[in-house]
Amino acid sequence: MSLNAVAERLSLTRPVKASLSVAIFSMMMGLAGCNNASTPTENTDAESQTPATENAETSASNDTATTDDGQVVTIYSSRNEQLIKPLLDKYTEKTGVKIELVTDKAGPLMARLEAEGQNTPADMLLTVDAGNLWQAAQQGLLQPVASTVLESNVPAKYRDPEGQWTGLSLRARTIFYDPSKVNTDQLSTYADLADPKWKGKLCLRSSNAVYNQSLVASMIENLGAEKTEEIVRGWADNLATDVFSNDTSMLEAIAAGQCEVGIANSYYYGRLLDEKPDFPVKIFWANQDTTGTHVNISGAGVVANSDNPDGALKLMEWLSSDEAQGLYASSDKEYPVKEGIDESDMLRSWGTFKQDNINVQKFGERQTQAVQMMDKVGYK
Ligand code: FE
Repeated sequence: MSLNAVAERLSLTRPVKASLSVAIFSMMMGLAGCNNASTPTENTDAESQTPATENAETSASNDTATTDDGQVVTIYSSRNEQLIKPLLDKYTEKTGVKIELVTDKAGPLMARLEAEGQNTPADMLLTVDAGNLWQAAQQGLLQPVASTVLESNVPAKYRDPEGQWTGLSLRARTIFYDPSKVNTDQLSTYADLADPKWKGKLCLRSSNAVYNQSLVASMIENLGAEKTEEIVRGWADNLATDVFSNDTSMLEAIAAGQCEVGIANSYYYGRLLDEKPDFPVKIFWANQDTTGTHVNISGAGVVANSDNPDGALKLMEWLSSDEAQGLYASSDKEYPVKEGIDESDMLRSWGTFKQDNINVQKFGERQTQAVQMMDKVGYK
């Protein structure tokens, strides 16, 4: 029975009906969420874990936003509130547009959008990983937008070809190692971590993380399913210990000597270095002689049932501007999605690297295949 049908039977009025549907749907998702590996729910862990406290300096201002008093844009966001709030406050200060921020994990937010349907107050979905944004688009939760501003600020490989979502910041998912045990000449590719030489030395985060689903999806796209399955099986065979529930604890396990190598997102490493400048783990850019390092996005889309799609789009456009991009880069150790923006000193110290050129939309398209593959080889 559909949720609306459940509400219908109870003969409720429309607004009550909507919130009841939400409640029932949230309950169902809550019960179902954890066991369904193909549902991209458990992915924002440290988005709400380690606060990004550093207040960024503003780069040169470009005043594309105009004053628009009285308007409200409601955002459903899975991003760390402490990270995103200063950016949104800046927008309100510049334009007078008020922003309602609703924060939760990506899965529950999408479930909520679906359940609320036309009654949703949301105008924008702000989340991490192209896999999540692709999923939201597949579920019909977003609407296509045409924006010359986004087209000029955001490279095409970081946007949905149909305009349903756009990247707003970049993160590299790459190799980290213990420099007291590993030399860089022993490191090369994600595939090499499947070699028996790493037996009992590799740490990985759970395959439930959409970040790993997207990485494996990109490998399927680049190397084919057969080769990728061989690699993922090799990873599972090489594990030093059980998989980790987040990137931060995986990095800490390398620091503690539990393993010698692992895979994590760059900004988690940056946050750890902020706290402990002598954190004894090093970053290595994977696949520099082959496909390039895997890069994913954080991003946003205009909600399909938004009452204020223009307001949402204007905000998205501002988030891609020089001013906002500079803030993204300095406050969360992420890379700007727009070219020509200064990176933070820390990011610069990690050096430049070749990025995988794949269109991030592929991470979504190959997600189910990636999940099934990891399950098949026993990568938990
Ligand atoms: Fe994250």
